[in-house]
Amino acid sequence: MAYTIASNICEGIAECVPACPVACIEQGDGANSKGTIWFKIDASICIDCGVCLQVCPVTGAVLPEERPELVI
Ligand code: SF4
Ligand code: SF4
Repeated sequence: MAYTIASNICEGIAECVPACPVACIEQGDGANSKGTIWFKIDASICIDCGVCLQVCPVTGAVLPEERPELVI
């Protein structure tokens, strides 16, 4: 399993990027439906620590489960 960032809820604030202990969050291509940059989690590296969910200021952007259908 892995955590998921819902691409179209993320606002590209990137608090999660330096917080991730395994550096598995990277910027996605282009803009999302909010018109902001967005970030995505590499599920093959994520260790399910939950830090990204704790630091993200956007409600609902980070989900504690693997939801590939929410990644654009
Ligand atoms: S998941 Fe949250 S903290 Fe990470 S880039 Fe998106 S809005 Fe910012
Ligand atoms: S759950 Fe932990 S390892 Fe996975 S993306 Fe979030 S901060 Fe990184």
